[in-house]
Amino acid sequence: MIVAMDGPAGAGKSTVARRVASQLGYSYLDTGALYRAAALQARRRGLAFEDTPEMRRMMAEIRIAFDGVRVILDGEDVSEAIRSPEISHYASVISAIPVVRQMLLPLQRRVGEAQDVVAEGRDMGTVVFPDAEFKYFLDATAEERARRRFLELHQKETNTTMEQVLEEMRMRDERDSSRVAAPLRKAADAVYILTDGMSVDEIVESIVERVTT
Ligand code: C5P
Repeated sequence: MIVAMDGPAGAGKSTVARRVASQLGYSYLDTGALYRAAALQARRRGLAFEDTPEMRRMMAEIRIAFDGVRVILDGEDVSEAIRSPEISHYASVISAIPVVRQMLLPLQRRVGEAQDVVAEGRDMGTVVFPDAEFKYFLDATAEERARRRFLELHQKETNTTMEQVLEEMRMRDERDSSRVAAPLRKAADAVYILTDGMSVDEIVESIVERVTT
């Protein structure tokens, strides 16, 4: 059974997907973490964020593992390192390169074939799991999403202002939605949820109820 969850940054996908997976006893697949790990690796190697032989070689060699909580890149726990604003930006840039998406596709599908999973990202319902039994598109207004992301960052004591978060998020959404390869888009058969003013409990409950009945 696959529950596919897509939506823009800060729409609450991770929190909701994690909780739904835990309540259903399914695995949780955070596909953004894969793009983030690839972006971190490319930055560390000083690569240009383009379809070059070096980028293809890096993608062919890269070993990313995700156990539902931690992200392991070539044996190193990078769970924290991939969450910086810098890597958020570069993840969005690297994910627009078609060959990068292509090379991460089998990894994602294998997870879905092996177990029941709640998979979240930008193209779960459209490209990676087009036959998923349940599809959701979680959304929220840009202001609400920026507010959530700001609170999250604030807990880590960064100097980022609310305006910077809003601007960064708008640019990332614009890039994710306008790219040619698997743009952020609601699948025709996905249930749309505007999460402004809704509690996490409410959203999780409605999804779990639908999946279990
Ligand atoms: O979900 P998260 O914010 O961690 O994703 C980081 C970036 O990875 C997104 O902005 C998007 O560009 C990219 N991504 C993607 N396809 C996915 C998941 C994430 O292009 N399925």
